[in-house]
Amino acid sequence: MKTIRELQKEIHELAKAKGWYDGRTREPLEYHMLFVSEIAEATESVRMSEPEFCFSANDKPCGEAAEIADAIIRMLDYAEFRGWDMQKIIELKHEYNKGRSYRHGGKAV
Ligand SMILES: [Mg+2]
Repeated sequence: MKTIRELQKEIHELAKAKGWYDGRTREPLEYHMLFVSEIAEATESVRMSEPEFCFSANDKPCGEAAEIADAIIRMLDYAEFRGWDMQKIIELKHEYNKGRSYRHGGKAV
C-alpha cells in the first residue's frame, strides 16, 4: 500500500501530465475553492439520494464517496505543489487532536 506522501507525488505528477499546470500559476484561494466545489458535489449527491458510491453510465465513479475522493485528490495535488509532506502533517495534527478536550471545549458540532 502506498503512503500518503507517495500518493500525493503520484497525484501531482498526473495533474501535470493532464495539463492542469500548463501555462498558469494557480493561487491558493483558487485551490481552496476547487476543494469546496468537490465538497459541494458530495453534498448534492446526498441531496439527490444517490448511492454512496456508484458508477455512471460511462463508468465514471460517482456518489458522495467519489466526490469526497475528488476533494482529497485535489488537496493532495495542492500539497505536493506547495511542497508539503501531508503524511507528516496529518500525523502531527492527529497526535495534537488526541490531546484536545472533549468536543474541543464544548463545541456543539
Ligand atoms: Mg467531482
